[in-house]
Amino acid sequence: MDLGLSNRVALVCGASRGIGFAVAEELAREGAQIAICARDANAVAAATARLAKTGAKILPIIADLSTTEGTATAAAKALEHYGRVDVLVTNTGGPTPGPSLSHDWAAWTRASELLLRSAVELTRSLVPGMQQRKWGRVIGITSIAVKKPVPSLVLSNSLRAAVTGYYRTLADEVGIDGVTVNTVLPGYVATERLEELAAATTKRTGATHESIFESYRTGTPVGRVGAPEEIAAVVAFLASERASFVTGQAILADGGRSGTLL
Ligand code: NAD
Repeated sequence: MDLGLSNRVALVCGASRGIGFAVAEELAREGAQIAICARDANAVAAATARLAKTGAKILPIIADLSTTEGTATAAAKALEHYGRVDVLVTNTGGPTPGPSLSHDWAAWTRASELLLRSAVELTRSLVPGMQQRKWGRVIGITSIAVKKPVPSLVLSNSLRAAVTGYYRTLADEVGIDGVTVNTVLPGYVATERLEELAAATTKRTGATHESIFESYRTGTPVGRVGAPEEIAAVVAFLASERASFVTGQAILADGGRSGTLL
C-alpha cells in the first residue's frame, strides 16, 4: 500500500526515544521529511544520526514541550526550515505515577502542561496552516488509560481523557478543510517509560521486575508487550493519504489488553 507520504512534512514530538522515535523512523522510511523534538540535546543528536540512515531529511529541535516557549520553538523551527507542517504527532513522556490522593496541585499543573498544554499549543500553532492548504493530519499519542484507567496512574487517566476531548472536538471543526484528527492509544509497549513504570511499581509494592513484566504479558491477549514499531505503524497509516476518511477516532494498539467491546 502506498501511504502517499512522500515529501509530506511531519513534526514528531518526544522523538528522541521510544514510541516517538519509532514514529519518526516509520514516517522517514515512507519518504516524509521529518522534524523531531525532545529536551535533551545529546539524545536528539543521537536520534537524528540514527534517523538520517533512512536517507530522509531530519531537522533536530531541542525544546521542552511542557512550556509555552518550548511549543512555540518547536512549531516555529519546523515552519522556518520546511515552510509547512503537514503531519503533527503530539507526544511527550508520561506523567509521574501515583494514586488519586497522592498529587498536590503543583503536580497536576506540571502534568497538565506536559500532556494537555503541549498538545493544545502545538495544534493551535500548526493546524491553521493545514486548513489553508486543505490537507493535514494530527495524531495524538495518548494511552490505553483512555479506555480503561491504569491503577496508580491518576494523572495519565485524567489528562489523556482531556486530550481526547480536545481532539474529538477539533476533528469536527477541521474535517471540512481536509484535516483529520485522531489519537492512538498504546497498551504496554517496551520502552524506557515502561521500565520506569515497572520500577515505580516495585518501589510501591515490592513486586519483582520479572513478575511485573509477566503480568503485563499475561494480561494482554497476544501474550506479550508491544514494540514501539507496532504503534508507529498505526500512526503512519493515520498520517497517510489512505486514511483520509478516518477522523475523530481513538485507536487502540494494545494487543487486546483493554478488553473493551468498543
Ligand atoms: P518515553 O519516556 O520512552 O519517551 C518519551 C519521549 O518524549 C522521549 O524522547 C523524551 O525525551 C520526550 N519528552 C519527555 N518529556 C518531554 C518534554 N517535556 N518536552 C519534549 N520532549 C519530552 O515514553 P514512551 O514509552 O515512548 O511513551 C510515549 C507516550 O506514550 C508517553 O506519554 C507515555 O506515557 C505514553 N504511553 C506509553 C506506554 C508504554 O507502555 N510505553 C503505554 C501507554 C501510553
